[in-house]
Amino acid sequence: MRRKIIAGNWKMNKDHREGAILAKEIADGFAASRSSCEVVLFPPFTTLPAVMEAIRGSAVRAGAQDIYCEDEGAFTGEISGRMIRALGCTHVLVGHSERRHVIGEGGELLARKLRASLRNGLKPVFCVGELLEDREAARAFEVVTAQVRECCEGLEAEEFSRVVLAYEPVWAIGTGKTATTRDASDMHGIIRMLVKELFGTAAAERVPILYGGSVKPESAPDLLGDAEIDGLLVGGASLKSKSFLDIIPR
Ligand code: PEP
Repeated sequence: MRRKIIAGNWKMNKDHREGAILAKEIADGFAASRSSCEVVLFPPFTTLPAVMEAIRGSAVRAGAQDIYCEDEGAFTGEISGRMIRALGCTHVLVGHSERRHVIGEGGELLARKLRASLRNGLKPVFCVGELLEDREAARAFEVVTAQVRECCEGLEAEEFSRVVLAYEPVWAIGTGKTATTRDASDMHGIIRMLVKELFGTAAAERVPILYGGSVKPESAPDLLGDAEIDGLLVGGASLKSKSFLDIIPR
């Protein structure tokens, strides 16, 4: 059985002082809960060192919200996988919808970022998801499978074994609208079929597929009860320790 993963994307919130407090509260609460889940926090870059210090010795892991596709050099303002790894981070978000649709990152760049993560020993949480207009035009499966295919096709099986996928319908992120468990489960099933086609049955059975989009403590149990949903990527509700800890199953 796949271990459930609960991840918190803090987006552009929490400076290093606020982040240290929140991470410590989460680490303490998680330890007290004796949950068997994997918990990963994604603070902003400048908050990461303080978070790494706050979670030291705990089972909580942390990662960056973005990565550049090169490892060093003249790329002003960018942060490399080597730098993220040097902090002790284990994970990195790649292709979050805000990177795709607000910053304008496309598939070719994201494929390179995915490879940079793997090259630097980080586990990418690779995010995919359709726009509302895609869902209304019954194109959601097509759009999401194209996003997975364009970035993951061509990876070695060993490389893909370190990838975590996250299905986040864009219309559900930060809007208060959650996909129904049925819709999320159907999409996860379609993604898993594509993984089977690309990497084989064992990879399809192993790959964790998270759901994200306005998850709250009230909606989490139903989503997590579905066999296709291996965990949650939580934005707004991860900014308070109580709501985030309430989402983590015991
Ligand atoms: C996210 O940022 O990945 C996300 C799912 O945000 P929210 O939970 O706020 O919709």
